[in-house]
Amino acid sequence: MEAAQYDLIIVGAGPAGSACAITAARAGAKVLLLEKDRFPRQKVCGEFVSPESLGLLQTLLENERFQTCAQIVSSRIFLDNKELTLPVTPAAQSIPRFDLDPALFAAAQHAGVTTCDSAVVSEVNRDEVFHVQTEERAYSARAVVNATGRWSKLTQFDVAGKDKWLGLKAHFSEPSPPQSVDLYFFPGGYCGVTPVGPNSINACAMVRADAARTLQDVFAKEPRLFERSCAWQPLFPTVTTSPLYFREPETESDGMFLAGDAAGFIDPFAGDGISLALQSGTLAAQSIVPFLHGTYSLEHAHRQYQAAYRKRFEPAFRNAARLRGALAAPRWVRSAALAFANVPAVGKMLVRGTRAR
Ligand SMILES: Cc1cc2nc3c(=O)[nH]c(=O)nc-3n(C[C@H](O)[C@H](O)[C@H](O)COP(=O)(O)OP(=O)(O)OC[C@H]3O[C@@H](n4cnc5c(N)ncnc54)[C@H](O)[C@@H]3O)c2cc1C
Repeated sequence: MEAAQYDLIIVGAGPAGSACAITAARAGAKVLLLEKDRFPRQKVCGEFVSPESLGLLQTLLENERFQTCAQIVSSRIFLDNKELTLPVTPAAQSIPRFDLDPALFAAAQHAGVTTCDSAVVSEVNRDEVFHVQTEERAYSARAVVNATGRWSKLTQFDVAGKDKWLGLKAHFSEPSPPQSVDLYFFPGGYCGVTPVGPNSINACAMVRADAARTLQDVFAKEPRLFERSCAWQPLFPTVTTSPLYFREPETESDGMFLAGDAAGFIDPFAGDGISLALQSGTLAAQSIVPFLHGTYSLEHAHRQYQAAYRKRFEPAFRNAARLRGALAAPRWVRSAALAFANVPAVGKMLVRGTRAR
């Protein structure tokens, strides 16, 4: 069978892939979006959507509103027996991935994208065009975006000597949770607790692989979290994610554009991964469309995307890495940093510093 031809193929239908597909299709491109699994499903994520991307999200979704969506107006940090409260202004939202990813996938279909789920891309090759192979079919395209997330058949890198982290998530019942994203830090990781409904919360942890294996292990590591979690009832079984590693962001691999976590994974405590995924997917499409219209070459499109990506996101990656370093510092350094962050202007600056805008 002859390979079906597209202008642009996007591999992976998380926020980055769907944002890219919607943007390119609305600009007139013939787009194919391939996703290895099916929606709706749970994904390991704190589900905090930062205010900087809520406008873009509304544009992508054509103003569709979510039924289950809580407002987040503050962030509480629990560290070394201390507690710090920072305002989140404007308010952020907590949007379950069970709702967010399918809504974006449906918006892509509505924008005219050809979508295919249960389609695992096993290989991408390049000559004059790109050849994309799934287990069942072959496709070709003039450009390809890899939006397959942190770790996939298409996103692999050298992990020798790097720390290995795990992600775990579940929703639990909790009556009237505060409108706050609460971060509980402990040796070897942290757990974020966010309201997801009037009587439910999301508990999502990132831990070193040697520190904890289950959410119960995680809750036992921080006394205030342990006390809060005692009455929680799970609303579905815990989901876990493949190993997490941090590395320098990259925007291209084998001629493919990289977007979202496939380009770079920002520390989840920044609450900015979904925002970065939406924004980088959109930016990638905006760089590719002029190439598809013959305005410039694919190489120029790569340079354009790389420059825009660096300008917009590198400060957020740099600042999140610095904060990660500060959290691993000796206790007296952490205490001093926490006292400093308690100064309102500094706290505000810290939050803004890890945000892509
Ligand atoms: C513990 C933890 C907590 C987090 N908390 C937050 C938070 O509170 N707020 C926030 O903004 N971010 C958070 N993040 C980060 C956020 O989840 C990611 O940044 C975001 O999901 C990235 O979106 P993406 O589209 O790049 O990748 P993904 O959402 O991972 O989507 C990639 C898609 O590609 C598909 N795929 C993979 N391989 C293939 C293949 N071979 N063929 C076809 N399809 C494929 C996958 O099935 C998947 O649907 C958290 C992350 C972790 C680990």
